[in-house]
Amino acid sequence: MASDHLRIDVLGVGEAFDPYYANSSVVVTADGYRILIDCGATVPGLVMAKFPDPDAIDAIYFTHMHPDHIFGLVPVMLNWRDDGRSKPLHILCSPQLRSHLEQLMVLGFTGLGSAWPFEVIWHSIADTSTIGPFECRFGRSDHSVQNHAILLRFAGKGFAYSGDGNVTAETAALFTGADLVFQETYLPKHDPQHAAHCDLETVMQLASDMPGARFWLYHIKRDARSDMARMLAHNTQVRIAVPGEVIEIR
Ligand SMILES: [Zn+2]
Repeated sequence: MASDHLRIDVLGVGEAFDPYYANSSVVVTADGYRILIDCGATVPGLVMAKFPDPDAIDAIYFTHMHPDHIFGLVPVMLNWRDDGRSKPLHILCSPQLRSHLEQLMVLGFTGLGSAWPFEVIWHSIADTSTIGPFECRFGRSDHSVQNHAILLRFAGKGFAYSGDGNVTAETAALFTGADLVFQETYLPKHDPQHAAHCDLETVMQLASDMPGARFWLYHIKRDARSDMARMLAHNTQVRIAVPGEVIEIR
């Protein structure tokens, strides 16, 4: 029987060099189709632990080119190859990011053979409005490199994932289609030194403008986490995402 809800498995919630948390990454499932969002250096083991079937993940979406978002691609692909994946792998990203990922794959696969039991099918965000059962849209955030937030909608429900970067008019508009928004929130307060990251003050403003949506925060600066948790202790609309949690949007 076809399912009628969105399921989000939270793999990692950490910032780039977090000593306690794996790099931020989630798997979104609808109607049996699974899309992994971002796959940083410390994510592959979590994918294998939670989804040991090499055909479990149908597609990967990458928000931007930083290592904590893409350096797990080569390891997961090698693991899937060794474990006998047969399904094609769909990779969705910007054209600029595709050429970066292709270079990463050339370097990463050197000396490991050229026989691939599964096909890689690339999709550009410039001309993609559906992937599997999802409708998808993208919005550019304000980050140090090009980063695109993604909105996935299925059966009238929406989930948005910001990737890195501060909120822009484009991402705020994207989030209006979401019941749940995962927003990178590196800082408690806006800091011009870190202008390419989001902060809790910005999120709280956004949340008051969008009372119908919930905001789960991730990629929090390691030394800001406990302060932020205290500030959000009794908030039901805005909270910190927890690794390993499963969220169902019905
Ligand atoms: Zn980044």
